[in-house]
Amino acid sequence: MSALILDGKKLAETVRAEVRDNALAFTKKYGRPPGLEVILVGEDPASQIYTRNKEKAAKEVGIRGKLHVLPSETSEQVLLAEIDRLNADESVDGILVQLPLPKQIREQRVLDAIRPDKDVDGFHPVNAGRLASGRPALVPCTPRGAMKLIALANAKLEGARAVIVGRSNIVGKPMAQLLLAAHATVTMTHSRTRNLDEICRQADVLVVAIGRAELVRGDWVKPGAIVIDVGMNRVSFGATAPGETARTKLVGDVAFDEAKERAAAITPVPGGVGPMTIACLLENTLIAAEARLTEHS
Ligand code: NDP
Repeated sequence: MSALILDGKKLAETVRAEVRDNALAFTKKYGRPPGLEVILVGEDPASQIYTRNKEKAAKEVGIRGKLHVLPSETSEQVLLAEIDRLNADESVDGILVQLPLPKQIREQRVLDAIRPDKDVDGFHPVNAGRLASGRPALVPCTPRGAMKLIALANAKLEGARAVIVGRSNIVGKPMAQLLLAAHATVTMTHSRTRNLDEICRQADVLVVAIGRAELVRGDWVKPGAIVIDVGMNRVSFGATAPGETARTKLVGDVAFDEAKERAAAITPVPGGVGPMTIACLLENTLIAAEARLTEHS
């Protein structure tokens, strides 16, 4: 039996439409739109695309998106001063610094400088701590989107065995907290885990975020499981003889064609978790804006 394909593109459209309606209501109520400021330091081509997409996506739903591009030689001090300025600006609801940063800038220092109530990426230790202790928090966008995709599959999470492969601060760890809060029994795994395939085979919900193309094979998937593939890996294909040009394509961390024959539901790559990340960033901006203005009114 082939799995239900969890269509992140379509679900992201629904989330964006909701944000659009709520942003309009916010603008009417407070006399200004919610504001998202995106900071890019340097000229990394992928980061340029991501940040432009974020700015554009914000504008499309009625959020005032603004992209600040700083030169690659920007010092940590200058970047921190820019963050201070945005922290103090009452018309700014969300601040996002695109990663990675150039070598001369300490990433942790910068992320810690963003006001927690404007931290729409949810990377500040205060938000991570709030999430871990079950208190209201700005939740990192990718795990937030992944939870919405799991909900599409209509599975009961209470008591379910969830396995997460990858323990990064931006995906694996917050994902574990969200699944724990939904009463799943959560196992975290990583590069030092022994018998990873066996552990994966026990998962009712399997979330993979490692950045290793198709490492998780079809026979690692428990029949009937929900599989969320966060990985985005660009791989070459097509060149079979010398002189032929290879093309590239995006694949996930899960061997999709194999896994979809065993899973009950699975996210594709592309078109699964990816589109949900920006949609959830927009949602976080609105949540941050509403929380701040409600507190002040
Ligand atoms: P990191 O590199 O920060 O973390 C990778 C994690 O995977 C680490 O915990 C690492 O273990 C673990 N890992 C690496 N190799 C293995 C292995 N062979 N077996 C088991 N675990 C392994 O990655 P991110 O969390 O930032 O991203 C993961 C993937 O998700 C990437 O492909 C990235 O592009 C994608 N991504 C996609 C997003 C989207 O919007 N769709 C957003 C964010 C990320 P250890 O800790 O032991 O080193």
